[in-house]
Amino acid sequence: MIARVSLEIALRREFDYAVPPDLVDKVDVGSRVQVPFGARKILGVVTAVAEESAYTNLKPIIKVIGAQALVTAKVLKLARWIGEYYCCAPEIALKSVLPEAVRKEDAGWREKLFVRMLPVAGEFPKLPKRQQDVWNIIEEQREILLSELLELAQTTAATVRKLEDRGLVTITNEISERDPYAREVILASQPLVLNPSQANAFEKIKAAMERTEDDKREPSSTLHPLSSTFLLHGVTGSGKTEVYLQAIAHALEQGKGAIVLVPEISLTPQTVERFKARFSSGKLQTLVAVLHSHLSAGERHDEWHKIRQGRARIVIGARSAVFAPVEPLGLIIVDEEHESTYKQEEAPRYHARDVSIMRGLMENAVVVLGSATPSMESYYNCKKGKFTLLGLPERVDNQKMPLVRVVDMRQAGIKEKGPPIFSPQLKEAITQRLERKEQTILFLNRRGYSTSLQCPKCGYVANCPNCSITLTYHRPEQKLSCHICGHSEKVPSVCPEPKCKNPAIRFAGTGTQKVEDILGRLFPHARIKRMDADVMKRKDDYRRVLNEFRNGAIDILIGTQMIAKGLHFPNVTLVGIIYADMALHQPDFRAGERTFQLLTQVAGRAGRGDVEGEVFVQAFTPFHPAIQYARRHDFVGFYEQEIEFREQLKYPPTGRVALLTLKGRNEDKVKFSAEHLKHELEKLAGRAPAPGAPVAVSVEEAELFDLGDKPDPHGTSAAPVNVFRDLLISGPAPAPLLRAESFYRYQIMLRTRAMSRLSQSLAGIVATLVLPDDVTLAVDIDPVNLS
Ligand code: ADP
Ligand code: ZN
Repeated sequence: MIARVSLEIALRREFDYAVPPDLVDKVDVGSRVQVPFGARKILGVVTAVAEESAYTNLKPIIKVIGAQALVTAKVLKLARWIGEYYCCAPEIALKSVLPEAVRKEDAGWREKLFVRMLPVAGEFPKLPKRQQDVWNIIEEQREILLSELLELAQTTAATVRKLEDRGLVTITNEISERDPYAREVILASQPLVLNPSQANAFEKIKAAMERTEDDKREPSSTLHPLSSTFLLHGVTGSGKTEVYLQAIAHALEQGKGAIVLVPEISLTPQTVERFKARFSSGKLQTLVAVLHSHLSAGERHDEWHKIRQGRARIVIGARSAVFAPVEPLGLIIVDEEHESTYKQEEAPRYHARDVSIMRGLMENAVVVLGSATPSMESYYNCKKGKFTLLGLPERVDNQKMPLVRVVDMRQAGIKEKGPPIFSPQLKEAITQRLERKEQTILFLNRRGYSTSLQCPKCGYVANCPNCSITLTYHRPEQKLSCHICGHSEKVPSVCPEPKCKNPAIRFAGTGTQKVEDILGRLFPHARIKRMDADVMKRKDDYRRVLNEFRNGAIDILIGTQMIAKGLHFPNVTLVGIIYADMALHQPDFRAGERTFQLLTQVAGRAGRGDVEGEVFVQAFTPFHPAIQYARRHDFVGFYEQEIEFREQLKYPPTGRVALLTLKGRNEDKVKFSAEHLKHELEKLAGRAPAPGAPVAVSVEEAELFDLGDKPDPHGTSAAPVNVFRDLLISGPAPAPLLRAESFYRYQIMLRTRAMSRLSQSLAGIVATLVLPDDVTLAVDIDPVNLS
């Protein structure tokens, strides 16, 4: 027997190994194995098993890691698609499907060494100081993990063994299972009676689940193969989560499991609790595993294995939970599907929403994307008849949407000295809330005090020495700091230009610290708290401040995007958005979409109790469509006008984008390399894609996914047609953020409708492209961040 293995080192090919007779029973597709490679021993994953190999003299596999194949054949197929589509080496794609804690050799179901104290018979012996110190800790804890003990006592295992020799303690091997939510008390919840829109959505989802069960998507079916992907468009509070819960219950009834993706920031204990509560008892009882980055490696390992063993049928997690080994998989839910955090910003640069859709297609699972402000991509796919649109137009409690008032800051600023922070209207509204003992949220997506330091005399601006941005002034620490690389320096007291030395240097621009400061002076009796990355340092801070706010111990909460998401406070009747158009004028075709989403989300924080909410949107471009449609809570209106602009420029969703970024410390070399790359790409525009290696998913299948309404009719023909007729190459140009962490960056942007084919060809180019040693190329397919 032969095993084909993808190695965990950056090699773009696979190797055949012999399977020794004693390992034949253990080696399967997905097994993690250790193999010899030159003089080294390396870890890899078996991607195929075969009777024979084209090579002779195969080296044998050394050992198999873990009892069960860690990567299921299905997840393996998905990883290969990621490698193909996102244009990265298969071993990089493979790496991402297993959490680090599971991948490491020593992280099997390893038993842990526990130290336990024994009853002392007779007189307690006199111990040397080191042993006594260790004993004191054991005595206090009675039972402790050896590793924890060593850390606490700053000692070695040998010292503990001495205590064992004296008969004072035992050291034993035991499985220790960790439960990150062990301390939460969870009360069981029952399904609610759905309102008509919820019921309609649920019925459609259920029908699709039964369809996938019955005919396994017969080719004769007239439905689009993606019609089992749903977009659930419902304002916040419209009861989406209840629909998810009932759909999950249905999956369990069918004997299948479910994956729920939520943005990292919304993975609060409350969210997790809602899912655990529903399935904590009754006939559908199952464990709910949680996967996210705040778990310890051990917790992550255990959660993952609970899924792999089939004990947890439901997984709730951030981006990478899309790879959870749920089998069989009936349902994938992507909540807040428009969130940019679903995109991974390092290789493999996958988008978890899109991976979900692909996984659903491969495993016959139903996919539900939910949002109050869907992405342009998903809504477009509904319009094109690919996805199925479901709407929850009203809030469950029939609450009215808050009244949104746009304040023209050009008017508001006339009488003030500097650029204003609070319009008279907003000030007045805050005063009212304080009088009525209602709460206010103020939103500004920029931390720090002032956003730049300038000299009005010579024009000096304090810039980061490593990045092409200005330094932000942080008043509590009296520092200037860079929000990209973290560089920080003291605030100069005079202009640092040697010829200038002007003492009247000025801070400009407003951050959350300044808002807090000025607010404190305007309303000296108000209880004000700020919530941004500067004050929320510890894991618990976030929860603590929110609790204070919920309990009414805070009148005004100021914050960055941290407070924009899913918070529900009945007593908040006013939301103020300090600069609504701040993100609007950035060099990114999604600037309008992001602003619309953010305003809608933030505005949704107001008026969720009995009192109607009011939102003040302060803007310098008050008539911008993103602001005006958000004011009217009109997603469809926004979509209709935005899609025109996207269509004109072939931006997503009407075309697909690949962004190639070259970076290096020498600007000339980077620029030159970018020109060279462009030259190679231009050759591509004139020819058919290279016949690549066999792919995990046929190009036709993958193209369902691309934006052409139909797969290219010439795609399957053998004649070398040019499928890149529509390929647009822009650049190279300096990246919007030319310099970051002392690297210069140049970009080339590609636009096409046939992205699956383009990625295949790009892989060929990337593999043969010769770049100077100190210049690197990053390929980002469907980029979310263009800077
Ligand atoms: P969303 O996920 O769309 O923000 P939720 O599912 O959180 O909305 O629903 C908002 C609130 O309404 C929750 O407190 C939920 O328990 C309640 N709710 C949802 N559906 C119903 C229903 N059919 N009947 C009564 N209450 C409901
Ligand atoms: Zn910097």
